[in-house]
Amino acid sequence: MTAAGASASSGAAIAAAVAAQRAWVERLFDRLAAGSPGEPGITRDTYGTGEDFGHRLLVEHGRERGLAVSHDIAANTYVTLPGLDPAARRILMGSHLDSVPHGGNFDGAAGVIAGLVVIETLRALGVRPRCDVTTMGVRAEESVWFQVSYIGSRSALGTLPDGALEARRIDDGRVLDTSIDASGGDSGRIRLRERHLDPATIRAFLEVHIEQAPSLVESGLPVAICTGVPGNFRYPDARIVGRHDHVGTPRRFRRDAAMAGAEFAMLLDRIWEEEEAAGFPMAVTLGRFHTDPAVHGLTTVPGSFAFSLDVRAYEPAVLERVEARMLAAIAGIETRRRVAFKLGTRASAAVGPVDPTIVAGLEASAARQGIPTMPLGSPASHDSAAFAAAGVPVAMLFVRNEHGSHNPQEAMEIDDFLAACTILADWVARDVA
Ligand SMILES: [Zn+2]
Repeated sequence: MTAAGASASSGAAIAAAVAAQRAWVERLFDRLAAGSPGEPGITRDTYGTGEDFGHRLLVEHGRERGLAVSHDIAANTYVTLPGLDPAARRILMGSHLDSVPHGGNFDGAAGVIAGLVVIETLRALGVRPRCDVTTMGVRAEESVWFQVSYIGSRSALGTLPDGALEARRIDDGRVLDTSIDASGGDSGRIRLRERHLDPATIRAFLEVHIEQAPSLVESGLPVAICTGVPGNFRYPDARIVGRHDHVGTPRRFRRDAAMAGAEFAMLLDRIWEEEEAAGFPMAVTLGRFHTDPAVHGLTTVPGSFAFSLDVRAYEPAVLERVEARMLAAIAGIETRRRVAFKLGTRASAAVGPVDPTIVAGLEASAARQGIPTMPLGSPASHDSAAFAAAGVPVAMLFVRNEHGSHNPQEAMEIDDFLAACTILADWVARDVA
């Protein structure tokens, strides 16, 4: 780096250059929200109108700024500040541009816009990066739509599992492959596992994301540095089959599927409590948990029960152990209550370890910038985990956010967002020099 470049990248200069981006950042978030209404909240449906709008806005921003804009076979969008050496391993930043139905404006989008802020900051400082610096608008991270994790990132990395392209959207039944094609992708090439992103060419994948729990609000801190992204196993459509009976049927004759579901939930909750007490953080969610509305009623013993299950943890061994304990618990319930569990399709995602060297670098950048942070395990799944599973060094920054996410009340302060951008820009500016 030149002497001028070195002084331009002093901590204070970086912080000032990030702060100077505020006006367009606020405008871009506002335009994004206005273009993806989901009363209440916003809806950027995966490979649908809302997500397509987010990508068009990103393309428009990139072109207006004279940056290189491109897409891949999964219709992910890349906005790039080209580096001096096209062969040097690139820095990828970004996150997803889809949302859950009636979600908030910041989940996902914050990471894409943070990448744009870093790029503008480098330009404002006159830094000519050694390698390409790219922000990626990732498709299809929210698995609520197709019930498949990390569709966009895994398609780009050539790691989307077999059968995923045949998944159907839960609301309108559209098939994933034709939906990808309709948004400008090429599902045929994804099916062939064509790899758009070669992990060996990526120096780092860096994802800024709002925190989805209130840990930062509780601690009074603006930003956290992620210590790991959990992996999961999931059963989206599990059922318990017993027998419908008259409400007066004595207990010993019953094969009550709802009671079996209740016992299952309590056993899983106990496993969770024990694992955490032993020092292994994890989470269990029975997102759907219900009797069959077509036949249930006040005077009928439920003979069928449906649920979805998501179990997540930070270590592969913990996931394995918990699933084994769960299956043993199920076998016991089946015998005691004379019901059958039909777990249905199993899905899973690998644990996403963060890169310790990059994490240390981000901690040093935060300290240099005087921004207080804390280490935090991600409570949620993120595209970073798909990159980590493919061998890319990853790191994440979480931004304080009130009222959780996946709801219209998501609330991220732009000051906190810019604090995360400052840490990221500080790290990138030094790394690409
Ligand atoms: Zn997200």
